[in-house]
Amino acid sequence: MPILVMKFGGTSVATPDRIKRAAKRVGREVANGHDVIVIVSAMAGKTNELVGWVEETSKFFDAREYDAVVSSGENVTAGLMALTLQEMDIPARSWQGWQVPLRTTSAHSAARIVEIPTDHIMAKFAEGMKVAVVAGFQGISPEGRITTLGRGGSDTTAVAFAAAFDAERCDIYTDVDGVYTTDPRISAKARKLDRIAFEEMLELASLGAKVLQTRSVELAMRYNVKLRVLSSFEDNGDEAGTLVCAEEDIVESNVVSGVAYSRDEAKMTLTAVADRPGIAAAIFGPLADAGVNVDMIVQNISDGGLTDMTFSCPVNQVPRAEKAMTEAKAKGEIDFASLVADTDVAKVSVVGIGMRSHAGVASQMFKALSAEGINIKVITTSEIKISVLIDRKYMELAVQALHDAFGLDRAA
Ligand code: ADP
Ligand code: ASP
Ligand code: MG
Repeated sequence: MPILVMKFGGTSVATPDRIKRAAKRVGREVANGHDVIVIVSAMAGKTNELVGWVEETSKFFDAREYDAVVSSGENVTAGLMALTLQEMDIPARSWQGWQVPLRTTSAHSAARIVEIPTDHIMAKFAEGMKVAVVAGFQGISPEGRITTLGRGGSDTTAVAFAAAFDAERCDIYTDVDGVYTTDPRISAKARKLDRIAFEEMLELASLGAKVLQTRSVELAMRYNVKLRVLSSFEDNGDEAGTLVCAEEDIVESNVVSGVAYSRDEAKMTLTAVADRPGIAAAIFGPLADAGVNVDMIVQNISDGGLTDMTFSCPVNQVPRAEKAMTEAKAKGEIDFASLVADTDVAKVSVVGIGMRSHAGVASQMFKALSAEGINIKVITTSEIKISVLIDRKYMELAVQALHDAFGLDRAA
């Protein structure tokens, strides 16, 4: 039997009734002659609630216990989905990550998948089971502890299963009917894309478009998984949703294909740092050791041998970053006058493979922002993207202005 992977996100399994609706879709694919692997997220809002409880209990929490707590939401929906399918007379069984076992690295809260053995679940399919329901987002470390794959990680579970089981396709069911030119919740003019290239989706995801977890796109690209994003609320025809595919399978596209944003950024500046060889390593080494995900970096022109070093990181990592810098200073590894945290910034980015062959995208972007009176604090670029850090209060305005400036409401 051909195998299909179907992943249902939090809103698609938010209540027992929604689980029933999702199960009906699964039932249709079983009736079409598929063996199905269903990957479920936790009910909408559940993971946030669990994270909140961990943070309320412990400021610098033990990541192993964080994973033990936040992985639990998926256990509930996996069991409920299996029960719902059984009620529909479809032979189904649930698996938690460790039971598969989905083996990961030991990087708690950001673990990577190492191996997914297929023999156990394949044997069950051979015995007549029709649906394997697997709790997304979680796995087991070499030490035997529960791990999680980072926020949005159920997408990655789904793609990894599709690769391991050589599935016909991996369908990601969510609360929007595909990948849009920008978050449809931010811009009413956002347009659904029928297709998007892996590289573009990878950038959009890593720059904040949470419709797919970055790692899931990476895996799909590497293993050539046929990946589709579609709505679990609407009736999707065969051509519905968005296909994430290779660049050569896209006929026409705009120079810029999407605008992404990341709301919860922070900008930190170390003032009066000695401008000497090794200073960057002395600062960013301890930050990396403390688990701070540094994104953009700017070093100012040195004045009398002293310089300011600015970097951005997720806003919830500011306490960690401050602690790491204060400790490094106390140990005499670095010296600085002050550490200034600006926690009211956001990152807005434009992405498009067309940038490789078109000049002038950056200046067009800066002009559009300046026309709205938005000040740019930090800029970074790569081959197919340009990102700016701005005041958070202008984030939505910036997204809309850029969407207009690059004509994204119209197809190429
Ligand atoms: P799920 O719970 O199904 O995993 P997510 O909330 O993780 O769903 O992802 C879907 C959400 O991603 C949408 O509701 C939408 O607000 C957001 N999103 C951000 N950027 C985009 C985009 N470019 N296209 C579609 N959705 C986007
Ligand atoms: N429940 C997890 C989260 O909210 C994983 C997922 O939904 O993909 O991040
Ligand atoms: Mg998600």
